[in-house]
Formats: sequence, C-alpha cells, structure tokens
Amino acid sequence: MDQLNILVVGSSNTDMVIKAAHLPSAGETILGGEFFMNPGGKGANQAVAVARLGGKVSFICKTGNDIFGKQSLQLFQDEGIETFLFSDPHNPSGVALITIDDKAENCIVVASGANATLSPDDLKKADGAISKADFVIMQLEIPLETVVYVADRATELSAKVILNPAPACMLPDHLLEKLYLITPNQTEAEMISGIKVENIEQAKIAASIIHQKGVKNVIITLGQEGALIFSEGQYHHVPALKVSAIDTTAAGDVFNGALCVALAEGKNLIASTEFACKAAAIAVTKLGAQSSIPFRNELSLKQP
Ligand code: ATP
Repeated sequence: MDQLNILVVGSSNTDMVIKAAHLPSAGETILGGEFFMNPGGKGANQAVAVARLGGKVSFICKTGNDIFGKQSLQLFQDEGIETFLFSDPHNPSGVALITIDDKAENCIVVASGANATLSPDDLKKADGAISKADFVIMQLEIPLETVVYVADRATELSAKVILNPAPACMLPDHLLEKLYLITPNQTEAEMISGIKVENIEQAKIAASIIHQKGVKNVIITLGQEGALIFSEGQYHHVPALKVSAIDTTAAGDVFNGALCVALAEGKNLIASTEFACKAAAIAVTKLGAQSSIPFRNELSLKQP
C-alpha cells in the first residue's frame, strides 16, 4: 500500500532545559545542573517524529521573525519535512522553559509568542497542504479557532483528523464530532470526560464518555502503563515497554507521530498503538524533546 500523506498543524518552540535534583515549589529558587537548548513545540516534535519514523509529512506553523524562527525552518528542512512556515513580524518565536528532576518528571512553562497568532486566515493560504492530506494531526498550542477551522476543512476534504488535546483545555462538541481519533493523556482525558483517570478501569470509563461526545476512536496514553484504546465498542490495553526512563519530555509527541506513521501505512489501531508505545519507550530513555525522537531503524534494531 502507498504511504498516505500526514499533515501536522501546530507549534514550534525553542526549549530551554535545566536539570535539577527536584522541581522547585512556588517561591523556591534552586541551583540546577546542566543547561541546554533544544528545538521543541508539540507540533514540531510530532512532525519530526513522523519524518524520522518514515512518514510522508508536511508541517504548518508560525514563528517570529527572529533567530529561533530561522533555526527552526532550517531544522525542518534538514529533517526532510515539507514546511509551510508563517512569519509573525510582531511577536517572538515560541519558547518553553523546562525543568527536569532526578526522577525524570518535568515542569514546563510555554511562552507561545507567534504560535498564538497562527490564524484561520493563515491556514486559508495553505489550503493546498490541507487538500493533499490523508491524515491531519493537531495539538492545542495554537489557537483553538484555528484547530476548529482545520478540523472542519480537513473533514470536508475527507482527511482523517487526529487531535492530541495537549495542553489540556475544554473542547467544543462541534470539534469533537469532527475527530477520527483523540489521544489525551490522563490529565487531558480527565478534563474532557470529567472522570478521574488514575488506572486502566477509570481510563475505560473516560474513553467511552469521550466517544459519546462524538469522537470516533479514543486512545488514552497512560505513561508507564502504556495506552488504552476504545474503538468500535471494544477496549484494548497496550502495555508500555519496560525501560529505565530518564526524561519523559516529548514521550506523548513521539507516541502521536509514530501512531500517525503506522496508521498512514495501513496498520490498524492496535498495531499502530503498539508501534507508538515502542517509539515512545525509546524516547523516554533519552534526554530532551527532538533530541530524543528515534529514527525508524532504532525500532527494528533495538528492543528497549
Ligand atoms: P509528555 O507530556 O511527557 O510528553 P504525555 O503526558 O503526553 O507525555 P504519557 O501518557 O506520559 O504522555 O506518555 C505517552 C506514551 O509514552 C505512553 O503511552 C507510553 O507508551 C510511553 N511512555 C511514557 N512514559 C513511559 C515510561 N516510563 N516507560 C515506557 N514508556 C513510557
């Protein structure tokens, strides 16, 4: 089967990361360790994941007219991603400040900058990219009205729309009804369903509530417990691979990118989720966002 086209519409950020013994609490100043800068942003991470895992990918994003924006464009070109980058003359490129502790937990603050001005009008100028897409994946680091516009337009053009609803926010029913698949983590699933999601049984209840809101298929990611699929009235739990995690940053992004690649290759939801869990497990064994995204050959060579 020919590979289908994947379009990612989302954010591009520069991550500034500090490692520390623990995450600071309110009002606390702590001395951290190593500092490094990494390209990031959920949209960019997912586009890079698709490219490295062998998918045919286009990416629509917006950056500032600054050094971070220029570096991002260069990077996307180096990764072989067909990029439609809008440039905002008034706002800086997005930046994320990330702290990672000894237990691989993280704490992130994002200044969206130009990502917050990616508008439906911009997307109208990239209609050719939407028309070519078989799968469109989005996240919530760009304006919700833009996500809704793309979901409407892509559905009209018969593409399958996947939403990774991160970071968590309330979603209009109209958007949920357009989705082929939604991939919340536990916090996001709780916000959408109103049900606490702390174990697989609760994830099942949350997934069926989200499905009742109109989403065709639901996959709730459960960190080191793997992922729970709800599709065509059936639940299926895919366990995570056992690895020693050092940094879970971008685990969700790698999961989503890998999931799209597998779906675009014609695999079913269960096989695609298994592939996604495998790719995400490799990512958590490495530091950083895009620096931790595996290449396709790592999945076949390495059993993490
Ligand atoms: P993040 O925000 O850290 O990128 P997330 O909260 O969006 O992640 P998670 O549910 O934590 O998403 O993780 C996504 C997937 O990554 C999981 O479904 C699982 O397959 C994999 N994963 C996450 N943590 C681990 C871990 N400790 N060991 C193995 N796999 C993991």
